[in-house]
Amino acid sequence: MVPFFLRRAVNKYDRAEIKKLILTQLERLSPPCGPWEQLKMARLETALMRIDCEKFGACFKCEKSISLERLRINPEAVICSACLEAE
Ligand SMILES: [Zn+2]
Repeated sequence: MVPFFLRRAVNKYDRAEIKKLILTQLERLSPPCGPWEQLKMARLETALMRIDCEKFGACFKCEKSISLERLRINPEAVICSACLEAE
C-alpha cells in the first residue's frame, strides 16, 4: 500500500517531462561560466541521476511529494516548499 502522500508522486510522464527540462536547462548553462552556473549544473546532473529512482520527487525531509509545479521550475529540488519555508 502506497502511503497517501506518495500517491501524487511523479508518474512516468512527469519524469519524462522533467528529464527534458533538465536537459534543456543543462544545455542553456553550458559552458558553466560562473560559480552559480557550476553549482546549478552539478545539482541538475544529480537530479538527472536520481530521476529514475522510485523516490524522485519525494521530499528528503518529510517524504511528501514535491509539487510538480515546483519540480518544473526547480527540477533539482530535494525538499518540498513547506520544509523549505520551515528552515
Ligand atoms: Zn518536505
